[in-house]
Amino acid sequence: MQVNVVELTDKIPTQDECGCKFPHDKTLRAILYGDLESASRQLKEYGVNPPYAIICDDITYKLAGETLEKSLHADVFKINEKYLDEKYWIDFFTNKKYSTMIGVGGGTILDITKYISFICKAAYVAVPTAPTNDGIASPMSVIFTKVDGRKTVKTRSPLIIIVDYDVLSSAPLTLIASGIGDALAKITSLKDWELGRDDLNEPYCRTAEYFLMRAIFKVLESIRCLNGENGKRLRECVTHLADSLISSGIAMMILQTSRPAAGSEHLIGRHLELNLGVSHGISSAFG
Ligand SMILES: [Zn+2]
Ligand SMILES: [Zn+2]
Repeated sequence: MQVNVVELTDKIPTQDECGCKFPHDKTLRAILYGDLESASRQLKEYGVNPPYAIICDDITYKLAGETLEKSLHADVFKINEKYLDEKYWIDFFTNKKYSTMIGVGGGTILDITKYISFICKAAYVAVPTAPTNDGIASPMSVIFTKVDGRKTVKTRSPLIIIVDYDVLSSAPLTLIASGIGDALAKITSLKDWELGRDDLNEPYCRTAEYFLMRAIFKVLESIRCLNGENGKRLRECVTHLADSLISSGIAMMILQTSRPAAGSEHLIGRHLELNLGVSHGISSAFG
């Protein structure tokens, strides 16, 4: 099957070319769009080598983990616990010495894999199974641990993202709605950042602004697709939404901060998220 590759390295100008003071990190080398089997076979071309460990849960194993396990001859580890036993898993993977860790899941599993691979110095590949927030490409992990509860940790963006639209389109509508909410919040967060620049002289970056504007256009496009008959255009909606969320994550990667993608609306949203259990995306959109 055909795999469409978007290589990022040339699409992101250097710090000098941009003229800002942000690091212009380029950890994310490429996004591979296609079926899981064909796309995963291209990993070695980007220096992403075995031995591979797949981290997923029971649900995402069936959605995508099983296919990847076979095509990559990878070992599979299921993490179903809500509050991560951080020490156990870090000790476990430090001893195993995998070259690459592949996160297969929605926000939580991807963040856990991003975090553990960062600590264990393994390459990280993201395989999202639901377009639920903009953490896919970002250099941050939000994790829930038994000791610390919820915490946000600075980690590192994935080297490769594999996007299979068939998998993403099968996500529950509540998760897709959450992704739309998190992407819509960029309208406010970008404005928030612009105000910071104009009123408080905060540092600004035109390249990150471009990726955030792209995220906003793409989410508006995805909402238009929802008007299709009986959800027939759901796949099209998810296509635009995934691009939107990844673009926002790329902006955070370039800057190495979540500042432009999480403004005051995220602060308000966090209150709902923590106290009422409303999903991240919906609470951020409300904020
Ligand atoms: Zn968010
Ligand atoms: Zn810049």
